[in-house]
Amino acid sequence: MRRYPFLKKNRKTIKTISFFVGFAIIFFFALLFIPELLHARPGGGHSYSGGGSSGGGGGDGIAGLIIWLLLSLPPEISIPLVIIIIIFYYYSKRKDAKGGQTISSAPTHTNKFNDNRLTENRIEELKTTDPNFSRLLFIDFVSSVYHKYYSYLGKKEFKDLKPFFAGRLWDNATKDGYNQRNISEIVIGNISLITVFESGEYTGITVDINSNYTITIGGKSSRYILTERWLFNRKKGTLSLAPEGMRDLKCPNCGAAGNFTDAGKCEYCDTFIEAGEMQWFVNQISVLNQEVFSTKGLAHYEQEVGTDYPTIVQPAINTYINKFTDLHKLPDWNSYWTNFTDNIAVPYFMEIYAAWTNLNWSKVRHLVSDRLYESYDFWIEAYKSEKLRNKLENIKISKIDMATIEVDKYYESFTVRIFASCNDYVENNNGKVLGGSKKQARYFSEYWTFMRRTGVEIVESEFSLNNCPNCGASADKMGQSAVCEYCGTKISNGDFSWILTRIVQDEEYTG
Ligand SMILES: [Zn+2]
Ligand SMILES: [Zn+2]
Repeated sequence: MRRYPFLKKNRKTIKTISFFVGFAIIFFFALLFIPELLHARPGGGHSYSGGGSSGGGGGDGIAGLIIWLLLSLPPEISIPLVIIIIIFYYYSKRKDAKGGQTISSAPTHTNKFNDNRLTENRIEELKTTDPNFSRLLFIDFVSSVYHKYYSYLGKKEFKDLKPFFAGRLWDNATKDGYNQRNISEIVIGNISLITVFESGEYTGITVDINSNYTITIGGKSSRYILTERWLFNRKKGTLSLAPEGMRDLKCPNCGAAGNFTDAGKCEYCDTFIEAGEMQWFVNQISVLNQEVFSTKGLAHYEQEVGTDYPTIVQPAINTYINKFTDLHKLPDWNSYWTNFTDNIAVPYFMEIYAAWTNLNWSKVRHLVSDRLYESYDFWIEAYKSEKLRNKLENIKISKIDMATIEVDKYYESFTVRIFASCNDYVENNNGKVLGGSKKQARYFSEYWTFMRRTGVEIVESEFSLNNCPNCGASADKMGQSAVCEYCGTKISNGDFSWILTRIVQDEEYTG
């Protein structure tokens, strides 16, 4: 679970493609050191760094030579030869020209902290003009749009999405070709806000969405794991809709369930809804990463990364702590924090990992949000289908740091960083360990986000993991959608008590 399966790489694939990686590495260095190779690439054109012509000597025909070597000689001969040529070329060039190479580094902790500060400030600014704005509800909206976009692609229901997409995207998606493509079993993982900005008469928010889905073309299905970046826009000064209007795609004018004509007119209130007038719409979709899903990597373990990174703390956390303390009329923050960690964070962590270990995910249905439930349920089913089990035993929590508090009109959330260790391994049906270690403790940390409706005042110390927070009956009949069978109420929106809505690995967390 902690190995963040949404982005996990598969060792077997890595082995089989290592030969091509060898080629790629050589080309990469060749591109770095020999700019003219850029022009020799088939199809040319795309330069990732955007730095058109960086200073470099005229072509000595070396690019052509390298390509000729790689294509015509066996790799055992051509690769070492090319490496020698590149090294020789690089040193001879460096003698008479000062490099001037710009090397962009991976995001450092400082970068992440600064990005985080910028985004947080922008969200606060947005809240001053739109007091209804709630990051959690916005993410729910993103999730609905994303889910409907892929499930409606190529189907007649796609028309109901008209007010939520830019004309250009709409036209592309409704082109005839899409009818042969069917996307199903869409599972959405984490959604993160990347930037919040103003541009012209629009406010924009970009989000990264981790997901996986099955694409069927001509009767053939493949499952993919993806990271996509979507840009949402709306006219400046627009007020966010209430929770009911953000949780699903509703007509932003009358609130009826989305039912629009091809031109974007609501079938109920007869109002033409222009994209961005009253609600966010999608203005850009880019796929950042896409790989074929395979269950082969389920028992594979990578070295844990990020456990020693400093905690990314919300820049003005004390302001928010005071706000929270005032809002709930708490005698003091410290005793509340102890209460929260002892009665919510720790028991949830233990219970959720026990459910994961025992492949008994439905036991925590009432403790987690819909999206978190579905995304981890997908992985549990994947383990089950391979007759595997990821066991986390002897879990010990060593420390919990506060990272972020957010309070808006509708919801409040705490993001905490939990440091823990456990014996983490994958075994098959016969009890044979296929990955990880049954004996050696693995140390890790994760950011967990808990949310609840603003104004909910259940005393944490009286909270019970095993009961419905609304009616108090046993929490054993929550179904797939976390509607308590005893009182008929949906629990997983956090309207009655804390629910866990997000788990992010330390090396992935940006705020
Ligand atoms: Zn309407
Ligand atoms: Zn109930």
